[in-house]
Order: sequence, then structure tokens, then C-alpha cells
Amino acid sequence: MTVAERTLIDEINELREKKNAVILAHYYQRGEIQDIADFIGDSLELARRAQETNADIIVFAGVKFMAETAKILNPEKKVLHPNPESGCPMADMATYEGVKKLREEHPDAAVVAYVNTNADVKTLADVIVTSRNAVKVVKALKEDKIIFVPDQFLGGFVAQQVPEKEFILWKGFCPPHFNLSPEQLLELKEKYPDAKIAVHPECNTKTSEIADFVGSTSQIIEFATTCDAENVIIGTEVGLKHQLEKINPNKNYIFPVNADYCGTVHCCDMKKNTLDKIKEVLENETNEIVLPEEVIEKARKPLDRMLEIV
Ligand code: SF4
Repeated sequence: MTVAERTLIDEINELREKKNAVILAHYYQRGEIQDIADFIGDSLELARRAQETNADIIVFAGVKFMAETAKILNPEKKVLHPNPESGCPMADMATYEGVKKLREEHPDAAVVAYVNTNADVKTLADVIVTSRNAVKVVKALKEDKIIFVPDQFLGGFVAQQVPEKEFILWKGFCPPHFNLSPEQLLELKEKYPDAKIAVHPECNTKTSEIADFVGSTSQIIEFATTCDAENVIIGTEVGLKHQLEKINPNKNYIFPVNADYCGTVHCCDMKKNTLDKIKEVLENETNEIVLPEEVIEKARKPLDRMLEIV
């Protein structure tokens, strides 16, 4: 670590203490951000942390919908997002008008929104899900017909596990996960024949079909760090490597990606947050997430419903 980096981290720590702030970071953030975070986790873990914290300020190092979710769960707290340009292309694929129309066309269906949706779309949902709990939540619903937004691949994965229900899938997708082809994984498997393959359900169906394990980021961590294989091929965002190596450094985690390349399982939006930007928002209390009261109230209900079920 350079002197400049050390100084920057010291400044962040001072500001964090002085302002009673907490830094929450998603597993896909840059390694140096994960290292200074108070909590690291996937969407559900962070949503829960956001709800439990006593801090006055939450700095949410993730993409915009995550910071919005923290604000919805903590309307009385100041939630700061290090970089307003860090959005989620998949969340943006589901529009308020489009989802509203679909809902009106199928009044007998439950609208199940992946947490990766913008706040206005969450107001239209009956329940929110994460990749970890989507199957459990959908099974618990009384409706037999499900409108699943925005990820067609996570929706398809849930539909496979819950065949007794009818699914209408929004045609959204996560570009970095979608770009991961089965051929890329098979090529690595040829190189490491004893390896196990673990992928995220946002991957396209053909890719998920060849995996030994399909699960959320925290489930992948659990699987990869404890399975009996020494080599584990990981089909999710490359930021996860940092935690995997910290938790169990005795294994070889193979990501089918060049870390400098924005594309295959490298989410450029997640990487738009930097230590400099975290210091800046803490210092000046800028980039505050502000949502209309009505949006907070309406979006809170499906989030609470999820938290009650899981
Ligand atoms: S990895 Fe995919 S789903 Fe996650 S923030 Fe990036 S684009 Fe959105």
C-alpha cells in the first residue's frame, strides 16, 4: 500500500468516526473498498445490515438500487452513494410503465421483483426477492401466477424449482453474467478437470446447466470455500475473488475473465465507486439518496414482506 493510499484510508476512518457513519459494501466492489467496509455482503445481507445499524449516515458502496433499498429501509437516515453514475443496466431494463401495464393485464398474478430494480418499480411489486431467497419466497405466495421482473434468467431458474406455478418473465438480463458462455467454462474445465463449477443464477440458462452449483454470491462463497475440490471455477462477478481468497486462501478460484475488461462477468458499474469517492461523500455529505415519501412507503411493503418470509 502506498503512503497516499494509507493517508486516504486514515482520512476515511476519521470521517467515519466523527460522523457516526457506516460503510456497507457489496461483494462486487473493488477489493480496497471491501477492506475498509464495516459490512460486506450480498443484497439481502446488506439490506438487513442497513435495517439494524445505529449509524446516522450509511455510505452504500454498491450500485444505485442498493443504496435506494437502504434508504427505503431507513428513511430517517442519511444514505450516501459514492458515485451516482454507478447504476445497474439490468434494473434499468424494467420500466415503471411497462411493469404497471403487465400487472394490469394479469390482475390474478403476483408481481415478484428482484431486488435489482429501481425504487419506482419496487412500488408495483407484491414482494421483493434476492437470488438467495427467490425460490423460498415464490413458493410461499398464494398466487399460482407470477410476474417475475426484471431478470429472465433468475426468473427461469426459479420457475424450474417451482414447476407448479405459471411464470411471466420480464425479458431483462445482467449483461456481465449473460456474456458468460458455457464454452468459456468448459474450456477452463478442460484445463482443470477436477474443478467444480459454481455460477450465479443471473447467468444464461445454458451456462447454469453445466454448473455443479447455482446460487447467490454468498451461497457461492459457502460452496466454493468448503467443497472438496481444490480448483473452483466461478461464474460470477470477479470482485468475489477478493473475499474467497480471504476466507479460504488454500484453494484456487478461477474466474473466466480478464480483470481489466468490462464485459464477461466484470461489472463496470460496480467498479465506479472508489476510495476517493467514498471520502468525498463522507466529507461533503453529497450524493444523498432522496426518494419521495410515497415511493418509500409503497416500496417498503414488498421489502418487509420478503423479510417476513425469509
Ligand atoms: S453485476 Fe449485473 S445485476 Fe449486478 S449491478 Fe452489475 S449489471 Fe447489475
